[in-house]
Amino acid sequence: MGFLSWIRKAFSKPKQLSRLEKIGNVEAVCPSCNVALEQKPKRKKKCPGCGNFIYVRTRPIDNKKVLITEAQIDLIEEQWAIYHGTHDEYLAQKWIVEQEKAELAERLGVPPAENDVQWSLLNKQLIEHSKLGNWGLYRNTRFEMAEILRKEGKLKQALLTYLEVCYLDLNGPNNTGGTTNAEILKDYPPFSADSAFLAPGIIERIVRIIKKLQIEPIDVRNMFNEIAVTQQANLKLPISPEQAWNQLEAQTFK
Ligand SMILES: [Zn+2]
Repeated sequence: MGFLSWIRKAFSKPKQLSRLEKIGNVEAVCPSCNVALEQKPKRKKKCPGCGNFIYVRTRPIDNKKVLITEAQIDLIEEQWAIYHGTHDEYLAQKWIVEQEKAELAERLGVPPAENDVQWSLLNKQLIEHSKLGNWGLYRNTRFEMAEILRKEGKLKQALLTYLEVCYLDLNGPNNTGGTTNAEILKDYPPFSADSAFLAPGIIERIVRIIKKLQIEPIDVRNMFNEIAVTQQANLKLPISPEQAWNQLEAQTFK
């Protein structure tokens, strides 16, 4: 363990486990209307009594599976943060989200959707990561954006973003932490082929979208090229779009 992380651990606040609460119903009872259910649901389900969604979570106080309302989802999440001793971080993150929500609401004149808040925050992260040359984190943020697009059913946009992430991965993105020291950057370059990889989970997502949208390989190639050429020019990436495509193609169309 490094000295800094030792310090952090030694002086971090004690977990406040006394603040854990028995949230939710252990029994097969709707958390909204208290109607008895025939069976305790194992995942999100609509209550036959009141029509509200019933959510299933594990609560940290006794590790029991409980039925909760939508409004209690955040409470359980907060309980886990208390349990893990990360309540301060949880509250800080929540504050950032609330700020962003308020800012967007003012700009749009209506309360923003949850995904729009996330999207806006991710865009800010992208700017921060690229400013500091943290290309590993930049890549992670682009991946999260692709996930949002996929969940919103914007599959073509999602596919484009997954392809972009693959191109970044094949160039081995590193975090340089804002250094401009040429000596350090020589040893720890922003991109290095020896840390290149392709994530099987992303390939899977790409393959599924291609099948669903029935996109021809040649069109996937064109989509990839369009993004990769721009990326290579902007970020001065060592692996050419052609080289990268050969690897990606071998994984995607086997
Ligand atoms: Zn109900």
